[in-house]
Amino acid sequence: MKPARTKTPRKPLVKKGSQTSLKDPVGVYCRVRPLSFPDQECCIEVINNTTVQLHTPEGYRLNRNGDYKETQYSFKQVFGTHTTQKELFDVVANPLVDDLIHGKNGLLFTYGVTGSGKTYTMTGSPGEGGLLPRCLDMIFNSIGSFQAKRYVFKSNDRNSMDIQCEVDALLERQKREGMPNPKTPSSKRQVDPEFADMINVKDFCKAEEVDEDSVYGVFVSYIEIYNNYIYDLLEEVPFDPIKPKPPQSKLLREDKNHNMYVAGCTEVEVKSTEEAFEVFWRGQKKRRIANTHLNRESSRSHSVFNIKLVQAPLDADGDNVLQEKEQITISQLSLVDLAGSERTNRTKAEGNRLREAGNINQSLMTLRTCMEVLRENQMYGTNKMVPYRDSKLTHLFKNYFDGEGKVRLIVCVNPKAEDYEESLQVMRFAEVTQEVEVARPVDKAICGLTPGRRYRNQARGGPVGDEPLVTEVILQSFPPLPSCEILDVNDEQTLPRLIEALEKRHHLRQMMIDEFSKQSITFKALLQEFDNAVLNKDNYIQGKLSEKEKVISGQKLEIERLEKKNKTLEYKIEILEKTTTIYEEDKRTLQQELETQNQKLQRQFSDKRRLEARLQGMVTETTMKWEKECERRVAAKQLEMQNKLWVKDEKLKQLKAIVTEPKTEKPERPSRERDREKVSQRSVSPSPLPLSGNYIAQISSGQQLMSQPQLHRRSNSCSSISVASCITEWEQKIPPYNTPLNVTSIARRRQQEPGQSNTCVVSDRRRGMYWTEGREVVPTLRNEIEIEEDHCYRGDVYKTRGGGQSVQFTEVETLKQESPTGRKRRSPTAAPAQPDGTESEWTDVETRCAVAVEMKAGSLLGPGYQHHAQPKRKKP
Ligand code: ADP
Ligand code: MG
Repeated sequence: MKPARTKTPRKPLVKKGSQTSLKDPVGVYCRVRPLSFPDQECCIEVINNTTVQLHTPEGYRLNRNGDYKETQYSFKQVFGTHTTQKELFDVVANPLVDDLIHGKNGLLFTYGVTGSGKTYTMTGSPGEGGLLPRCLDMIFNSIGSFQAKRYVFKSNDRNSMDIQCEVDALLERQKREGMPNPKTPSSKRQVDPEFADMINVKDFCKAEEVDEDSVYGVFVSYIEIYNNYIYDLLEEVPFDPIKPKPPQSKLLREDKNHNMYVAGCTEVEVKSTEEAFEVFWRGQKKRRIANTHLNRESSRSHSVFNIKLVQAPLDADGDNVLQEKEQITISQLSLVDLAGSERTNRTKAEGNRLREAGNINQSLMTLRTCMEVLRENQMYGTNKMVPYRDSKLTHLFKNYFDGEGKVRLIVCVNPKAEDYEESLQVMRFAEVTQEVEVARPVDKAICGLTPGRRYRNQARGGPVGDEPLVTEVILQSFPPLPSCEILDVNDEQTLPRLIEALEKRHHLRQMMIDEFSKQSITFKALLQEFDNAVLNKDNYIQGKLSEKEKVISGQKLEIERLEKKNKTLEYKIEILEKTTTIYEEDKRTLQQELETQNQKLQRQFSDKRRLEARLQGMVTETTMKWEKECERRVAAKQLEMQNKLWVKDEKLKQLKAIVTEPKTEKPERPSRERDREKVSQRSVSPSPLPLSGNYIAQISSGQQLMSQPQLHRRSNSCSSISVASCITEWEQKIPPYNTPLNVTSIARRRQQEPGQSNTCVVSDRRRGMYWTEGREVVPTLRNEIEIEEDHCYRGDVYKTRGGGQSVQFTEVETLKQESPTGRKRRSPTAAPAQPDGTESEWTDVETRCAVAVEMKAGSLLGPGYQHHAQPKRKKP
């Protein structure tokens, strides 16, 4: 027998602290037991299936000045007062059993104060089996038909398993069963009525996917940790009723895989739920007896019930267990009913009991500290040492927290008010524990043998089952043997007949053997063929597999490449998005700028239009002003000319009068005023008045003025020879329709086409136009200014009737302007001399008239009179 490697509890495959293994938090559940009496004060309320709320009871509120506190605590799941044992088992323990059957470790605690229902939850009560019997039931339901024969697996003291062949196991069985004190319980025994109700589990529960090509063995052990000592509750010690020996405590040891175990602890192989529970019950009884004997408080000890499942594969034939220790898988489920978590003073223990209680408290305290340190290490990545070794309890289970396994904790609470403070402590412990993570156990690939071996063997009619043996069937098919009873000494027929029959049988047997060997050879060949086919298929499948693996690895590479590409593209997209944002911002800014510029432009455009309109208005206004001005000036000019003409006319009249006057009158030099008076007295023509445009038109019509030359002509009998002749000559030269006032009009008319009418001339004048060398000329500012300058220093002022602008003339000046020197100063736009000499002649006549007048005046006034008018030299 070689020792098999144990894996209880299994070490993780990954290094400590490695982040590669998956972790699960410790599953913490809460079970609230019902109140013992319905009128009790309740301080715990189930809010929902994950939350409970603690209310401060009345008494505590009074102690704390009415301070009322309500705190909620969350759990993976909360089980209220009506939760059945089955419901709890299904949620909490079922997965642990399933794991156990699949080779994984599990640890389940019940935690709480005394009387909160820990034992009720773990063990149950009659008719209400707890988690323990249910776990056992599920295990045996699952592996029932695949169990190994007793003693095939044998536990050793190195925390591992030995394996032996079925014959050895049979021998050991016979040996032990022959012993007077049967240590091993028989599965066929009657169930103890004491606990029969507890294990009578009606709800059938079974694990899925149990490996049928393995054989299983179940071993249970039951220990108690009291006052930090470990006691084996299944140890068989001969009982000495006279001097009962105190139970020996056990030590913890570490196996070669660094797993902790109780050295020398009894492990009992069990084949059924009843058997297993009987073992447990035995332990319980022992515990009770010891407590009574040693005056111990049972609630102050931790009880640990271990269920170890050993699993070994069948050999290739599927007949027997494979004798390879390396192939043995051991998994363990530990069900721990912890001691009451209440503080020492609550039980009012004294002396030795107090010290013990302190120790028990100490182990719970250590458990609490371990959880806190673990949580801290996991949350903050620290590497603080977890004080597992401070108590036996934590030391024993250190591998569950350090290594791998599934850990679950059921927090049992009694909602009664007296337990409030203790319940608070329990809740806080639960809070911490929930945050601790434990490495998830990994699945282990079991041997490399073809699956389905067990049933293949059975199909061949293998040794499994109760069917009649083949040999028996064959024997039955032989002809019956003749009677072999020898009746007398001389009977010589019976024996030879028997011999003959036996020989026949022998011959038949021989034939059958030959046939059998032939068939077996054929069958072997067939098997060989089949094996070969299977091998070929295997190879083919392997080839296919490797191909597929290659494809998969290629695809993985492709995926990696694509992922990288994806990342790059994502990065690019990010950059592009950022760029887009920047561009959009730019665009917005530019648009805003554009809008501003547009508004500016529009404003400027409207300003421009306004300015244009204003300028247009100004231009129109100015044009109108100038037109008016021109008209005004034309009128003024006409007036001036009329005045001049009138003056000349007057002078001529005076001259005529002088000429025609009798020479007897004494010459007298008249003052200018008097002359003027005379002139005004003598003159019949109207005095020159400032003329409006209409008046000018009237004048130009010549109706009124036409009579004046007639007056001149009437006084044509002049005595002075030269002057008279000159006047006569001048009068003769004037066409009969011309008036002296209209001299300029006549001069203009001469330049015009012969068919043009007078009104036309007047209208031309009105428009301020002169006919100069056949073209129309607008009077320029310069000419106007010259005229203004001429008038600036003169004294008498004639005001035009409508214009309001002053035009200054003196009579003398008017005369002067008529003089050759004055003429030189006239506007260049004034009518120039005509090439036919009409103007020159006219000027000449004027000059001659003036000279004649001067001369006459000179003769009248005497030698003091100075000639103003000088005869102008006439060009040929
Ligand atoms: P503990 O082990 O925590 O000290 P027990 O399990 O011994 O507490 O429970 C004390 C009493 O309360 C027992 O009589 C038990 O039957 C009863 N009890 C506990 N929990 C429940 C429950 N959920 N439903 C009914 N009775 C319960
Ligand atoms: Mg209990």
